Amino acid sequence: MVDLQTQYQHIKSDIDKGIQAVIDSASFIKGPAVSSFQKNLENYTGAKHVIPVGNGTDALQIALMALGLKPGDEVITPTFTFIATAEVVALLGLTPVVVDVDWDTMNISVDSIRKAITPRTKAIVPVHLFGQCADMEAIMSIAQEHNLYVVEDACQAIGAEYTFADGTKKQAATIGHIGCTSFFPSKNLGCYGDGGAIFTNDDELAAQMRAIANHGMVIRYHHDQVGVNSRLDSIQAAILDVKLPQLNEYIAARQKAAAYYDHAFANHEHILIPVRDERSTHVFHQYTLRLKDVDRDALREALAAAEIPAMVYYPIPLHMQKAYQDSRYQVGDFPVAEKLAACVLSLPMHTELDDEQLEYITTHVLQAIDAQH
Ligand SMILES: *Cc1c(COP(=O)(O)O)cnc(C)c1O
Repeated sequence: MVDLQTQYQHIKSDIDKGIQAVIDSASFIKGPAVSSFQKNLENYTGAKHVIPVGNGTDALQIALMALGLKPGDEVITPTFTFIATAEVVALLGLTPVVVDVDWDTMNISVDSIRKAITPRTKAIVPVHLFGQCADMEAIMSIAQEHNLYVVEDACQAIGAEYTFADGTKKQAATIGHIGCTSFFPSKNLGCYGDGGAIFTNDDELAAQMRAIANHGMVIRYHHDQVGVNSRLDSIQAAILDVKLPQLNEYIAARQKAAAYYDHAFANHEHILIPVRDERSTHVFHQYTLRLKDVDRDALREALAAAEIPAMVYYPIPLHMQKAYQDSRYQVGDFPVAEKLAACVLSLPMHTELDDEQLEYITTHVLQAIDAQH
């Protein structure tokens, strides 16, 4: 699905130098590499504050901890997403309220958000699924109307740009009150281990989240609140500082591969290609097809036989996960998410795909689907 070895070969000398410099400095935690990357990421995204943390899940958890919510407060998330989005809500004793997604963009449905709001609703966590922003203009206006926080799960969408109706452009993770991203190795900006970051333009929230990520401490050994321990380590920061200047090229490479796939699959009676939302660029963390009348398992087997990986993100919506069973929800309640879970298929997507590989993949996909009909 990804080719991190080849990507590394192109930047090997800078990466190796960056790692060696951290080792030579022995400044493994909170070293200058972390503050350098933090500044560079603030410049890149336009966010006033970046708070580097241990991973994307921690970023989401710390963001929600900073909002001062109480047990039973409701947080709205899409049911078609990676589990981390709702996991942190549940872990904090808050109540996840899941809603359906749109068939075209696969992102959280704005109409469903409106219907799910109750007097206990305190926050919305939209996910920019597969690398394309959710309908942030509508989401921010609902949030303002109902006095809700918006925490963007931008773990798949670093570098995506959203355009508002008045022409204003903002980057994913900098639109809501707080944004979160992940530097998991396969993410669009990936390190060589775990990493994540929180974004905000709000000085108070930033101070609060910095303290929470550091054991609830501002003055050493004075703990004003219960916190966690979540840090981006210096070696990961040094790696990310080498990769950040490449991010726009990495995104362009993904978009080029996506355009190749689009062209190969356009107007196919059994394949729907990803729909582009004109308000957002798509940074293609995943290239995800929706299949019509295709035996997906058989297709995956045929591709596997040709050594082509293909993955189902995500096969089970949140409301159908065992750990999240809830008398409020039943199978059938979120028909779009359930239909997507049954028909999506993600193809290899990374920065190193060349035309030869793309031709090989698309030819096999088309042949395998034809063979079924
Ligand atoms: C990857 C991901 C996360 C979690 O990131 P980690 O760094 O693995 O903790 C959360 N939400 C979404 C949508 C993701 O894709």
